[in-house]
Amino acid sequence: MSKTLLVYAENRDGKLRQVALETLGAAQQIAGAQDRIQVVVAGSDITSAVSELVPYGADVIYTIEHPELEHYNPEAYISVLKSVLQQAAPDLVLFGHTALGKDLAPLVAAHLAAGQISDITAIEVEEGNAVFTRPLYAGKAFEKRVFENGPAVITIRPNNVAAATAPEGSASPIEDIAYPSPSLRTIVKDVVQKTTGKIDLSEAKIVVSGGRGVKSVDGFKPLEELADLLGGAVGASRGACDAGYCDYSLQIGQTGKVVTPEIYIACGISGAIQHLAGMSQSRVIIAINKDPEAPIFKVADYGIVGDLFDVVPLLTAEFRKV
Ligand code: FAD
Repeated sequence: MSKTLLVYAENRDGKLRQVALETLGAAQQIAGAQDRIQVVVAGSDITSAVSELVPYGADVIYTIEHPELEHYNPEAYISVLKSVLQQAAPDLVLFGHTALGKDLAPLVAAHLAAGQISDITAIEVEEGNAVFTRPLYAGKAFEKRVFENGPAVITIRPNNVAAATAPEGSASPIEDIAYPSPSLRTIVKDVVQKTTGKIDLSEAKIVVSGGRGVKSVDGFKPLEELADLLGGAVGASRGACDAGYCDYSLQIGQTGKVVTPEIYIACGISGAIQHLAGMSQSRVIIAINKDPEAPIFKVADYGIVGDLFDVVPLLTAEFRKV
């Protein structure tokens, strides 16, 4: 029996997020030849996000554009999705495991009385059935889950699943859905962002992270320089945040952000278990620490024992030559 997969394509300020293409990539991985992939894009200025999605050959792209969708508001967004769900009647709804996805996916699951599997890092398809892998205990173990029956909702961790591919010459029809104009009890007037203009930490392919070893606000400067050169983002341990060297929005770990970049460069970070919870799934980990016994070296693929204020500028100088 053919299935319908509905992908929520997240956009921010009208720009399609990388995780949207990864979520669509997950749908492409799961879908069999007879299955339909549908995409939904909602927001206040979605023209460019929708155009970017057209070549990926979805069976339909549902679009809902309205000024009330400028900022994420669960009441408004669930009402929009209810309209789409009614039309699409999906068997599986896919979200990115982002702040928005973590909030909206359970609302959709509750509405559909569906099961949900969150924070998926890998998908295998065995005899036509998708098997989802997700980390447990802050990445110390993994479990594999399947859906038995009924509608289902999943969230995909950014930077883990391959982005969608656009089959040559394909296009996707667009279907506008009217904004249902719900009577909202709360309205988001404004969103004040602390990290405007920077690469989103949870989606960055390269993260250069600083710990208490950076010793001051200025100590982050060489890390910022390296991150800028590599097109990456700067992160931090809680030690660095608690010491006031950087903002808590940079914190990576159990009580901060979870990142899985291709390269994670830990500078002056000891490697406490709570920090590892947020970065140990990174593809390649490079640790710079002057203490050869620092626990971070146990998870590092490459370790440099040395003073970060010598090593980081050296790395920057070498990368500049490439
Ligand atoms: P430290 O442990 O002080 O390590 C500093 C390191 O820098 C040392 O290894 C030192 O050798 C090295 N160093 C110093 N100077 C230099 C230099 N010049 N060059 C190179 N290396 C140098 N932590 C998180 O990170 N994220 C979390 O989400 C988080 N959540 C927590 C939740 C709970 C409930 C608790 C109890 C703790 C949590 N922590 C978290 C805190 C965690 O336990 C550690 O205290 C914290 O990660 C330590 O930060 P750090 O590695 O920067 O500092």
